[in-house]
Amino acid sequence: MERKNAWNTYEESDLAGLNQLIDGYKGFLNRGKTERECVSTVLEQARAAGFQDLEQAVAEGKTLKPGDKVYYAHMGKSLFLAVVGQEPMEMGLKIVGAHIDSPRLDLKQNPLYEDGGMAYLDTHYYGGIKKYQWVALPLALHGVAVKRDGTVIQVVIGERETDPVLGITDLLPHIAQSQMEKKASLVIEGEDLNLMVGSRPAPETDGEGPKDPVRTAILKVLEEEYGIAEEDLMTAELEAVPAGQARDYGLDRSMVMAYGQDDRVCAYTSWQALNTVETPDRTCVCLLVDKEEIGSVGATGMQSRFFENAVAELMDRAGQYSELALRRCLSHSRFLSADVSSAFDPVFAGEYDKNNAASVGCGITFNKYSGSRGKSGANDANAEYLAAVMGIFDSRNVVYQTAEYGKVDHGGGGTISYILARYGMESVDCGVPVLSMHAPWEVTSKADIYEAFKAYAAFYNLA
Ligand code: MN
Ligand code: MN
Repeated sequence: MERKNAWNTYEESDLAGLNQLIDGYKGFLNRGKTERECVSTVLEQARAAGFQDLEQAVAEGKTLKPGDKVYYAHMGKSLFLAVVGQEPMEMGLKIVGAHIDSPRLDLKQNPLYEDGGMAYLDTHYYGGIKKYQWVALPLALHGVAVKRDGTVIQVVIGERETDPVLGITDLLPHIAQSQMEKKASLVIEGEDLNLMVGSRPAPETDGEGPKDPVRTAILKVLEEEYGIAEEDLMTAELEAVPAGQARDYGLDRSMVMAYGQDDRVCAYTSWQALNTVETPDRTCVCLLVDKEEIGSVGATGMQSRFFENAVAELMDRAGQYSELALRRCLSHSRFLSADVSSAFDPVFAGEYDKNNAASVGCGITFNKYSGSRGKSGANDANAEYLAAVMGIFDSRNVVYQTAEYGKVDHGGGGTISYILARYGMESVDCGVPVLSMHAPWEVTSKADIYEAFKAYAAFYNLA
């Protein structure tokens, strides 16, 4: 199959829509560098768009009717958004689901120490990273510190021009002979990912300085500037992420370079697509979930029951709940697992099967199956469902392509598609191809982002 380049299909009016979408997307990336920040950003937009809190609807005993819009935020890290449809929910939902967690460096619970006259914050990386990519670049600290009395301190350090940035130092090439001979996986090891955060000792009193004077001085900064005491670091979730904004990429500005596009590119486009829905036939759901990068585990990951519970509450508010109706609803649902795919990179052509690789600019990408080495762990979508979804995309002139991650025995990836498939529902992976995936700065094509938005909107409005 010849691939169609999406740029060749655009008229002026498409480009206006594309540019508007990309502006919103870059703004979303700049505000949402953690799962919590993504949830709060979408919640703010959802409330402004007339979405009401499902939990409040439950508390007030409200009845929901077709056209009503609701959200359910789970622990501030995962989000369920729905527009109630006209048909009974046991006929099934139309669900698009993306994840909002991205690879990063999390601070350990006892992170602060001093060595060689410098202060460090020790980290444990989150998700699959090439560790050597995370050194010698400006990093910002995002997250929360929770005091024992429950006070939550929001932290964003390193994003404003006037903020300091943090980082991990690398060895100078002049004396790196033995480092340069190591395997790439050992050049920088996990335990070496230490953020260097200070070098100025606390002043001496009566000619005597404190033990660990630089560490002492950093504790004072944390307390005075951010209200964080050392014990609060034990009860904190602080994530070091690349500092800086999403940018246009390429001399022709055809791409976006930013941190965390896996999978916020599909999160933003699916959420924007839900906003095109008024009163649908079937109830439409947008799922934005946490913990995909570490196996979808935990209370806020897709393997948690929060999604099923939210559907049960939604059905109950619409006067449609029974255990059997819920099961029917889940098994009759149709799911688009909106997660990124790997884009063909000619520099590393040998790692891909060119005929079955996604091309940048050639549209939203279906991965019929993910998994690796004999499809192990894959959700393998049904051909009938794939054909039905492609038919819907055709009717809205969505440019799409099919792909695998890379060569059969070269590895692969996982998404959340297999988790919803457990309910017996139709499920397929389809999302934006990414270059330099999981690197601090990932690259996507604006055309592919626009096609993803068109695709998810078509699915909600026509499926
Ligand atoms: Mn992903
Ligand atoms: Mn990923």
